[in-house]
Amino acid sequence: MGLFGPAWQSENPRKAIKAINKLTDQNTLSIAAQEAASWNARLAAFDRLTDQQIIEGIIMSNANPFIRMPAVERLTDQRIISSIAKNDKDGAVRLSAVKILTDQLALEYVAANDTFDQARSTASIKLNTLILPHGTWSFKRNGGSVYYSYKADSLFVAGEILKKLVFIQPQTYYMVDTPDGTLGRDANGFFTEKPIKIRDLTINSTLGEVDSIKPQSLTMFGETIKNQSAVAHIKANGQYAKLILMMKCGKCGYESPIETEEGDFERQCYSCGTINKAHRAKITVNTTMGIVEI
Ligand SMILES: [Zn+2]
Repeated sequence: MGLFGPAWQSENPRKAIKAINKLTDQNTLSIAAQEAASWNARLAAFDRLTDQQIIEGIIMSNANPFIRMPAVERLTDQRIISSIAKNDKDGAVRLSAVKILTDQLALEYVAANDTFDQARSTASIKLNTLILPHGTWSFKRNGGSVYYSYKADSLFVAGEILKKLVFIQPQTYYMVDTPDGTLGRDANGFFTEKPIKIRDLTINSTLGEVDSIKPQSLTMFGETIKNQSAVAHIKANGQYAKLILMMKCGKCGYESPIETEEGDFERQCYSCGTINKAHRAKITVNTTMGIVEI
């Protein structure tokens, strides 16, 4: 660079940044972002770049992923962001795009197809929160596990929220707290950590009291074998676990995720409140800790 070049080209980062902070021309900023002498000067130029077409141009034409990644971060146009998240040849660049991507279909595409693990899992986690109608979940980490929690008014609402989750990552647990108990969901299916209420539930609508009705069906939800095995392992460790099945109400047909046990039991439908009289056979599971009955 010449002695008479523009100040943003200065080898002195402070001088270059000072000059860049006065630049407004987007084309000049685009060149500075790619060619300034220091990284800090380049990042200062990126901070002032807003023209979406020019930023897209950098991403399409520059070969250096360390230039292309900060360029992606300046994007606000979801159409361009989803195109890069789906099509860019560099996994790290796609991941940068996924982080700011909000388009649900594009996220589903990445979660299902991206060859870069981190892009796929980031898309899954975003989908799990985005598709919920009730804002975001609070979450905490414990070792390798992630716990999301949410508060709802009833087991009906909890069930509806949890049924809608897709692409659940291993060691990721969603728990919805309600006045009638906490219902959880993980990669295997539904779970509870302590008994949830089975009578006088807050229900969705009332169809009139009908007692002693038989459910239409009692079926597994999610990964049948893994779910049974998880329940058996927890029980073998002396902790609380119940096999949760979907009870299709004999009155209204709604499927409530209910705690089950061997033998006869009564459960209230989460939607209409009708008490269903159900029965389940004993299930024997072969675990590393021996045979466990659940
Ligand atoms: Zn019902």
